[in-house]
Amino acid sequence: MTRMSVKQGKVRSPTAEEAKVIAGKPMRWAIRNLSGQAVSICDLRRDETGLACKCTCPACGSALQAVNAGVGREHFLRANTLGQFFRHETGQQRDNCLVVIARLAALQLLVEQREIDLPPPTRRALVPGISGHLYQGEATATRRRMYVREHTWIDSQLASITLDDGHTVLLRLDTQRTVRNEGDYDAIITITVDNPDVASWDMAEILAKMKIGDEVESCWDKHWEDEELQSMATQDAEQQATKYLDLLPSVLGDLEGLTLAQKSESLLHHVIKSILLQAHSIVSPVYSEPLHRYMADGETISREVMLALGDLGLSGAVSEWPIAGIVADVFCSVRPTRGEPFDLIIEVAVTHRVDEVKLKKIEAMGVACLEIDVRGFRQKGRVTVDELTAEVLRNPGNKRWVYHPLVAARRAEVHQALDEVDKSRKEALAREHRTRRWLDSLTQAELLKVYRQALVQHWQWGRAGVVSGHFIELHDLHQRLVDIGFPDADESALVERTGVLHFLHLARSHSHAPMPANILLTDMCSALAHSREFRSLITYCLIGLKVYKPVIRGAQGAEMESIRLHVANSLQAGEIQFARSRKFDALIAALFPELASSLEAEFGTHEHARGLQKAKRERESARIEQARVSRVALEAAMKREENRRAVNQAIFNVSRQGWQAKLGLASDVDQILAHNDMKIAAKRFNAYGVDVREVLTSAWNAREMGTTLLDWFQGQNFDHPDQVHALKSLLKLGWLA
Ligand SMILES: [Zn+2]
Repeated sequence: MTRMSVKQGKVRSPTAEEAKVIAGKPMRWAIRNLSGQAVSICDLRRDETGLACKCTCPACGSALQAVNAGVGREHFLRANTLGQFFRHETGQQRDNCLVVIARLAALQLLVEQREIDLPPPTRRALVPGISGHLYQGEATATRRRMYVREHTWIDSQLASITLDDGHTVLLRLDTQRTVRNEGDYDAIITITVDNPDVASWDMAEILAKMKIGDEVESCWDKHWEDEELQSMATQDAEQQATKYLDLLPSVLGDLEGLTLAQKSESLLHHVIKSILLQAHSIVSPVYSEPLHRYMADGETISREVMLALGDLGLSGAVSEWPIAGIVADVFCSVRPTRGEPFDLIIEVAVTHRVDEVKLKKIEAMGVACLEIDVRGFRQKGRVTVDELTAEVLRNPGNKRWVYHPLVAARRAEVHQALDEVDKSRKEALAREHRTRRWLDSLTQAELLKVYRQALVQHWQWGRAGVVSGHFIELHDLHQRLVDIGFPDADESALVERTGVLHFLHLARSHSHAPMPANILLTDMCSALAHSREFRSLITYCLIGLKVYKPVIRGAQGAEMESIRLHVANSLQAGEIQFARSRKFDALIAALFPELASSLEAEFGTHEHARGLQKAKRERESARIEQARVSRVALEAAMKREENRRAVNQAIFNVSRQGWQAKLGLASDVDQILAHNDMKIAAKRFNAYGVDVREVLTSAWNAREMGTTLLDWFQGQNFDHPDQVHALKSLLKLGWLA
């Protein structure tokens, strides 16, 4: 649907597309020259055809010709017949012509209707908040159908109608048109028709299709309910501003001279107080205050003063209440879920919190004071009253107890409890100090006596008790024993109820007496034997049994004997597992002097076991050395024998052919030695320590004396067969063999 604005006489040129559509639209309305009223082509008679209609275009002023005026409807049912319309006599029918005539026609039909469906008037109002934000309010009256009692045309574009309720309404086509006596009318409506199509509709069509507010845009320039609507619209805008905490209520005055921020704070303060005055309950914050106390013994003890009252029921709230030198923002009575009711001051901190001076006054009064800190409320942007109510009443995070008499009472209780702890610790310290001085004054013998007493208590009750009026700690005694030269005195295998000292104590207590059946010494021994580290301590037990001779009867006696045998055999064999170090000998001898002489014996100690082992090792290594020496000697003898045989064999071999017969060129040893080859050989032999002349002389003489070569060789000293062969080669060189 094409819409055009004709306000202020401006007409938008239609687009080419629109122009094509509009060009074909017939103009079915015109203005009668005589009456100035709009007339539909359908209302003309036959004789008013053409210029006889005496009509004009209200837009361009051209005279109009009525085409097919008064022709019966059936005529137009035939093919290729033109409809009824007005044609411009001169010039061109333009869009504006259609729009202007359409508006006139619409106005005329509206004015002349008996019933008129008027749109409800709407009024808007803008209210600025203190933040500067504009809140828009709107009020609309109810839609109703009016009956037109009478109408009067003022001119072709202005008419007044009188409604059945007596209100007179001025209808006008153009807001530019003013009437001098506008004040006489109860209401003024401006009609705007922008649709040129309307001009081609007939009366029935316009009446059927057009309702004010639909095809016809209307605007209430004035309405008899205006004042009321305006006030309602303003109220609406104010409500929105109030919802966002942006409107100063009248009770605060205009706060002249304050900045926007200050106004805003005053408003926030005021609204929160209103919320509190109407509230039935408020959630309370948990108060928690740590208390630290440095104790006499150096430890710091921490306790907490807590107050968690949960939801507080509120009643009798009043604001700006003067009480003991301050003006409480809100003062009320509180019924906590638990505990006694109390009076409560609620302070709202918009810009500053409760200060020291105020706090002093509140404390002096002894009245509980809760502070709501709203300084951060607006950081997230605008806040509504509902959100603010939730923050004020339900969020414990923005509240703190400035003062509560219960906190003071609880703090005092905690202090008192700490005082008592401190007092008892001081007493304990003094007691310890006395005990320490007493122990310091004891001789070694006295200390050992105290230790024995403390041990007996320890075995009996699991802890040391009071000895000579002093509370004794076993570990304290142990430290003292270590300090005076008893190492590892706190060793649990010694000290505990299943340990060696208790065993010896029992053995001594029942010396030469029957051991009660419920005391199982064998179990204590077994427990020791099973501990790899402490099984050697069993030797103390066995020494104790030997010295104190308690009578152990029945199966236990036999079992103890078998344990003793097992340990004794192991020790005699020089095994280390039951051999003890002498680390505890001194302590045990001091506590059980009857054992002292037995403890001095070597048997059963590490040294003893090591001595046995050393002797055993020495015996073994002597035996091995002996065997080695014999083996070496045997091997040497065998070697010598073998060598001797080889030498004999060589002698036998080289002397098989006997002496060589005497030759003329070697008539004596000197001649042999003078020979050149012999000189060279002699040098070599001399280098090996062989006196060649002596050897050759010996051989010469032997041959002279008829000694066989074999005998001569056997008379020489040879270590190796090679020496035999060498000597043979020397004889051969000297023509002796
Ligand atoms: Zn025209």
